[in-house]
Amino acid sequence: MKTNTMFRYPVALTIAGSDSGGGAGIQADLKTFSALGVFGASVITSITAQNTTGVRGIQAVSPEIVEGQIDAVFEDITVDAVKIGMLHNREAAGIVACAIDRFSLSKVILDPVMISTSGSKLMEDETIEVIVNELFPKVMLVTPNIDEAAFLSGMPIRNEEEMEKAAQELLARGCRSVLMKGGHLEGSERADILYMKDSAPLRLVVPAVQTQNTHGTGCTLSSAIAAYMALGKGLPDAVSLAKEYVTAALEAGADVQTGHGHGPMNH
Ligand code: PLP
Repeated sequence: MKTNTMFRYPVALTIAGSDSGGGAGIQADLKTFSALGVFGASVITSITAQNTTGVRGIQAVSPEIVEGQIDAVFEDITVDAVKIGMLHNREAAGIVACAIDRFSLSKVILDPVMISTSGSKLMEDETIEVIVNELFPKVMLVTPNIDEAAFLSGMPIRNEEEMEKAAQELLARGCRSVLMKGGHLEGSERADILYMKDSAPLRLVVPAVQTQNTHGTGCTLSSAIAAYMALGKGLPDAVSLAKEYVTAALEAGADVQTGHGHGPMNH
């Protein structure tokens, strides 16, 4: 029955690339928002022709349309949290940085997507400078994996000690907090560690799930963090809950075959 009392769902926005294979990017983000009870809006920055075996092509969306999508969403819908994923070129990165100021966005999670699991470059080299100089200081959290963190900090990362040094370097370069994803480190116990400017690090041990179905893990983690923030959680809680969500999705998808390469998780 229709009543006169209107209510609104928490809303999260993803600004990212499309994955035609459905496992990563915008498709994974919207699925995650939905599964966690958050309404999802999307700004598509680039379109990839891709499946579980790899990326075949990338077409950047024009800067005007990236900006147009952002304006259309914010001029109409109240957005509670934002996740930023694939930003292929410097124009898109610059537009997003301006939008954070223009719309006074505070709960913003940045996944600095550089190379896909299948080895394709998803970001042009000149974009990196804009990400570091203009986006790092404006977002609440950056979520690099080990390879991205090593590249962005200019430091090798082979163990947790080096992970901490690289995180401190990224904090010194303007990040307010950094979630270092240690899943790719060697060794039996791997941890994701959340480093914040003014509090002690939060160490989240990662149970190793034996599966090749890992496509979209990073996208899903950052969008789950944004979803939990849209639901009102603080950063450490949002990160812990998002980690649990991804682990459950990896376990549920371990034996599912979708395609012939690195399949998606099940969530
Ligand atoms: N394709 C798109 C459009 C993405 O946004 C991402 C996200 O990180 C990827 C591919 C990479 O996903 P993965 O490294 O999990 O294969």
